[in-house]
Amino acid sequence: MEPTFEKIAVFQYSAEAMIVKGRLEADGIDVFLADNNTIDTDTLVSNAIGGVKLFVRTADATKAKEILAEISRYAVDNNGNNIICPVCNGTKVEVMSTVRDGKGLLGFFLGTLMLGTLPFLMKYKYHCNDCGNEFEMK
Ligand SMILES: [Zn+2]
Repeated sequence: MEPTFEKIAVFQYSAEAMIVKGRLEADGIDVFLADNNTIDTDTLVSNAIGGVKLFVRTADATKAKEILAEISRYAVDNNGNNIICPVCNGTKVEVMSTVRDGKGLLGFFLGTLMLGTLPFLMKYKYHCNDCGNEFEMK
C-alpha cells in the first residue's frame, strides 16, 4: 500500500517553508518539501518552477491545513477581505499589536484602563510581510 500525499502549501522561499515545516512537525506531522533545493540554489528560479511545495500525508492534510490557517492569520478588514499593502499590493499584512489572544486582550484592556485611554481611540498599524512596509488605515 502506497502512502498518498497532498500538497497543502506553496512558498516562494524555502526559508518560509522551513518555518512551517518545523511548526507542523512539532505537531507530529511529517512534512515533505519539493523543489526546495533547486530554489536554494537560485531564488530567482522559484517563480519559474512554481515555488517550494509543501506536502503532507493525506491522512494529516486536514490537521495540517488547520495549523496553516492558524499561523498565517493575516489582517482582514470588516468584510473579511485581506488588507492590501498600499506599496506592493501584498496581502500578507499583519496588525502590529501584541493583542493576539484572549490573554493578550485582557492585558491590553487592563493596560488601557490604567492609562485612562479607550481602545477605540487607538490607531492600528499594519506591517506588510512582503515588502516590510508599515502603514495605518485611514
Ligand atoms: Zn508590501
